[in-house]
Amino acid sequence: MNKRKNSNQTAGNITTGSCACGNVRFQITGELRDVVNCHCDPCRRWTGHFMAGTSAQIENFFFESDSTLTWWERTKEVKYGFCSNCGSSLFWEDRGRTESRAITAGVLDPPTGLKTVLNIFSNLASDYHHLDEAIKTTLGDLPEDKKADRSN
Ligand SMILES: [Zn+2]
Ligand SMILES: [Zn+2]
Repeated sequence: MNKRKNSNQTAGNITTGSCACGNVRFQITGELRDVVNCHCDPCRRWTGHFMAGTSAQIENFFFESDSTLTWWERTKEVKYGFCSNCGSSLFWEDRGRTESRAITAGVLDPPTGLKTVLNIFSNLASDYHHLDEAIKTTLGDLPEDKKADRSN
């Protein structure tokens, strides 16, 4: 079932990704949500800009290597996953959404086939940043009905 040979690109329903040094490598089967840009304060600082995040079901992840995957428990509710060797920003999880894991879209091996569809917490983007006006923008969090993992 796992098509590990195709580790460089999306092949069928397998998406692959890794951190910059390659110590964290993973595969995801099935659908990924379209990309949402989160400009909230912790995402801005943690990524150095904003989080362009897609999302998938946790049960659909397979880690080829995760020895340096480290979690920053920002609050009791949310945590951010990164590589402790190279520092790549990788994942985000919310304990209120236990079945899904957000993934920084830039760590996926292209082509991802994903589209960027929404800016959230746009009021918290820094003043240097020019928001992409071609996509929808909200001041706060994702609408409740969009918090699900699927793109529709
Ligand atoms: Zn790394
Ligand atoms: Zn955020």
